[in-house]
Parts: sequence; C-alpha cells; structure tokens
Amino acid sequence: MERKKLVIIGSGPAAYTAAIYAARANLSPVVYEGFFSGPAGGQLMTTTEVENYPGFPEGVTGPALMDKMRKQAEKFGSLILTEDVVSVDLSVRPFVVTGSPTCMLAESLIIATGATANRLDVPGSRDGELWQKGVTACAVCDGAAPIFRNKDLYVFGGGDTAVEEAIFLTKYGSRVFLVHRRDALRASKIMSERALHHPKITLIWNHVLSKVEGESVVTGVVLQDVTSGKMSSHSAGGVFFAIGHTPNTAFLKGQVTLHPNGYIKVVAGTSYTNIQGVFAAGDVQDHVYRQAVSAAGSGCMAALDAERFLSEQGHLHT
Ligand code: NAP
Repeated sequence: MERKKLVIIGSGPAAYTAAIYAARANLSPVVYEGFFSGPAGGQLMTTTEVENYPGFPEGVTGPALMDKMRKQAEKFGSLILTEDVVSVDLSVRPFVVTGSPTCMLAESLIIATGATANRLDVPGSRDGELWQKGVTACAVCDGAAPIFRNKDLYVFGGGDTAVEEAIFLTKYGSRVFLVHRRDALRASKIMSERALHHPKITLIWNHVLSKVEGESVVTGVVLQDVTSGKMSSHSAGGVFFAIGHTPNTAFLKGQVTLHPNGYIKVVAGTSYTNIQGVFAAGDVQDHVYRQAVSAAGSGCMAALDAERFLSEQGHLHT
C-alpha cells in the first residue's frame, strides 16, 4: 500500500480547495473524488447559476465552477482518483483508507464528503415504485427529461433549493407548484420574492405529500392540508424533493464523533475532529452555513491544519 502524507475524501469546493492548498504546500495530496457515491464536484454539480460566489460578477454555473477548482487542484500536483472510499481505519497510524479498488496509508486525512439530498418516504415515491420515474431529489439533474415537458410539476420544500428548483422547472413544466409544510418560506428573501412573483409558480402553503400516483410514470399526487387534515388529488407529471440534506458519514462507521444530527463535530473555529490528524471540511461538518464559499474556506482551514499537524509530527519532509 502506498503511504501518503495527506488523503482528502470528497470532491466539492471544500475538498478541491483543501487539495489546492495542500498541493501548493508540497503535501502531494491524494483526493478520492467518488464514483458511485454521487457526481464528482458535489452538490454544485446539480445546481444551475451560482450568483453569490465571489469573483464571478456575471455568475457561473455550478459545474463550471467545480471544473475550475478541480483543474486548479490538479495543476499544483494533487492526484485525483475517481473512486469511492469504502471504509477507513482510524484506529491505526498511518490511517488506512480503503477505496475501490485503490488502498492508501495516510498520515493525515481530510473528510469533505458533503451531504446528500433527503427524500420523502410516502407510498408511490419509493425505490421500485415511481422513484426515478418522475420522482427525484434533483430538479437540475433530471428536470429536462421529456417526461416532465408541459406537465404540472410539484416541488416539496421551502428553502433556497426548493425555490431554485421551482424556478428551474418553469422552463419545462406547464405549471410548477411549490408545496411547503408551513406558511412561510425558509428561503432567502431574494429567492422567495422570485418564487412568489413568478407567473408559472403557485405556492401551496401548509400542505404535505401523502402519496404519489401512477403506473409506470408519475400521473398524480395526493396532498394533505396540515391544518384541516383534508386530502386532495392533483394531476402531476413530476415530483421533486428539496427538503434538505444528510451528511455523508456512513463510511466512517462511528470512528469520528458526530453531532446528534449526524454532522461531524469539529473544534469551533478549526477543522479538528476528535481524532488527531483527521480533519473535516465543508457540508459534512457544517449544518449552519452550507455555502460553496464557506465550504471552500473550511477546506483551506483543513489543509492548513493538516500541514501544521504533519509538521509537528515530523512528516513534512519524509
Ligand atoms: P433547507 O434550507 O434546510 O430547507 C429545507 C426545507 O425542506 C425547509 O423549508 C423544510 O421545512 C423542508 N423540509 C424538511 N423536511 C421536510 C419534510 N419531512 N417534509 C416537508 N418539508 C420538509 O435546505 P436547502 O433548501 O437544501 O438549503 C440548504 C442550504 O443551501 C441553505 O443554507 C441554503 O441557503 C443554501 N442554498 C443556497 C442557494 C442559493 O443561494 N442560490 C441555493 C440552494 C441552497 P421548514 O422550513 O418547515 O423547516
């Protein structure tokens, strides 16, 4: 097994920024950017225009931004492996990182595996039912599919993602219904205003999804009014979940201390986890800000923390 100073797991802005800093510090980082675990580049690969990443006054698409970060990481000597990490053993030194198929020994580790979109679990929406047959958790990835054209489309959630997805879907659907379980959006004011004033978007307040209907593809939804309990049926060609995310920590198998909500616990103001030499960055440790720019910033912190750790351990010039 090859022995590396630093292994970075993940491929969003946190991972690539950590790789850029670490590579420039001559740490020759190895980045496991994932394969089956989701699109390399993380959640920004499934977003459209990013208007709030500094340095892009005209905006930039999520995939274009990630492509630039990835190239920048490679330019300075990061080795990027398009593989998933199956498991890690953090009980030994160096740590063992088991990928598929590559395995590495790592003196230090940065975990930047991000978070995955949540799904509602109602009849009709599950795997083997209508999941991926009109039910999806990513409008930007799937919204352009022919099955959604000129249909009534239903987006569930009240955050920025829900609003962004609803706006995106207006390009394809005849009408877009944004269904929220409360009577006020969680989304930022500017995004909320866009949804509220969009001629093709209708807000449905205080409702939840009760059932998805259809044989081979989605043909309808049953909604429940949370105030009255009343059910109503609606014809629908697509169901899009935008109800938040779960951090990707399963491969850690309990070896790193997590918050009760599953996000990795770091020492405030640092990227230190409870294990010396293991650092966390990006959405996997951030359930508050969750922005591309804050993820990138935390990736920088993790690389600097790792460099300091390696220096203290005498691994910098080995
Ligand atoms: P979020 O802000 O956590 O919003 C999740 C939404 O889903 C909330 O409205 C929540 O309802 C609803 N929800 C959660 N569980 C539900 C359930 N079981 N049934 C029905 N509804 C449920 O997540 P997000 O929208 O993905 O945004 C995550 C972060 O990314 C945020 O910081 C956001 O600002 C950022 N983001 C920014 C942009 C942008 O700036 N362009 C775009 C996308 C995302 P409640 O409101 O009742 O809790």
